[in-house]
Amino acid sequence: MRTYVASELPKVFKSRFGGEPQLFRAPGRVNLIGEHTDYNDGFVLPAALDLATYVAIAPRSDRLIHVHSLNLDSDLSFDLDAVQQPARNWGDYVRGVAVELSNSGYRLMGADVAVLSTVPMGSGLSASAALEVAFGYALLSVSNDPIDRLELAKICQRAENEFVGMRCGIMDQFISCHGVAGAAMLLDCRSLEARAIPVDPAVRIVVCNTMVHHELASSEFNLRRKDCEEAVRLLAPRLGGVSALRDVTIAQLQEHASALPALIFRRARHVVTENVRVIEAVAALERKDFVEAGRLMNASHESLRDDYNVSCAELDLMVELSRKTPGVYGARMTGGGFGGCTVSLVEAGAAEAFADSVGHAYEKATGLAPMVFSCYPGAGVGPTRL
Ligand code: ADP
Ligand code: MG
Repeated sequence: MRTYVASELPKVFKSRFGGEPQLFRAPGRVNLIGEHTDYNDGFVLPAALDLATYVAIAPRSDRLIHVHSLNLDSDLSFDLDAVQQPARNWGDYVRGVAVELSNSGYRLMGADVAVLSTVPMGSGLSASAALEVAFGYALLSVSNDPIDRLELAKICQRAENEFVGMRCGIMDQFISCHGVAGAAMLLDCRSLEARAIPVDPAVRIVVCNTMVHHELASSEFNLRRKDCEEAVRLLAPRLGGVSALRDVTIAQLQEHASALPALIFRRARHVVTENVRVIEAVAALERKDFVEAGRLMNASHESLRDDYNVSCAELDLMVELSRKTPGVYGARMTGGGFGGCTVSLVEAGAAEAFADSVGHAYEKATGLAPMVFSCYPGAGVGPTRL
């Protein structure tokens, strides 16, 4: 399959559907720290990427939606008035958003749509949320039904939960809607209050894609969520006012360890300690203590690997190679796990050499040529020009 560049999208739209499309983009994201905490009402620190999903769209006079994905060279058509069932393919992300928007009372028009993503799919950079948010925003825009960004994020999350069957938290859709250029976002996934944390010019956020994606990612994800719910169920009678692992302190977890099976205890320990790490990492970044921020990222990886069991050999290797490279403060897996990407905090002046060195070392060890890039956080969803 050939790779496209975003600027080709309007031409492809015109040759397929005719007419002049409106253009929209929604970014993918990298999460600096706070993994598997969002669905526990906890804290996360994602940044929107400059990689994005682009949508070219024009309204139709009927109630049909036609979508062409350039990435997959695949087409999807459906009737907004027909009952939709999941088909277990990429179209579920799109149909799920249309279904959830309709269920929420939005008045949608039919539309011709072409999508092209520069976010690699299935790499933990949330191509899925970028597709949902870009499509949802574009469809509402041509339907002339205004939408609140937070509402859109919640609807897209619901589409992924209910229609795709992936019980993700709100992080990916939230940051794709609310990204701020040049900054990561500290998000409280319970109150949905967010604060921009500017990326200091002295450091770079470097993403390394292992180029592997293990199929158990979504089934294991849903199992982890169940483990967390089980921990809450067992802890709640012992600790008043606990409705999510967000409410549990490290001391409380230790005190009631015997109430939990060993595996459930380890899952809970990851979440409870990770929430603390996010808050500490933000404080460290704000006082420019990059050594401490890096140490917390390293600890996050260890916890995801040993307590949450969502890493894999390729992620561990990329992290190990990254930590050996000069100028790095810390490195961890990012995203749900079982393949995908790592994120490293690197001294700005060392970032280019870091990318070269880690890229070569990983390729030498695995035979896979990784995609390594410095991330310059971009803005959230909106109209765009190409
Ligand atoms: P991630 O969100 O980390 O990229 P997911 O497995 O959650 O990984 O989502 C990737 C899936 O999203 C793809 O397998 C595909 O079904 C769908 N998808 C994302 N972008 C596109 C696109 N541009 N065209 C078609 N499908 C897409
Ligand atoms: Mg996803």
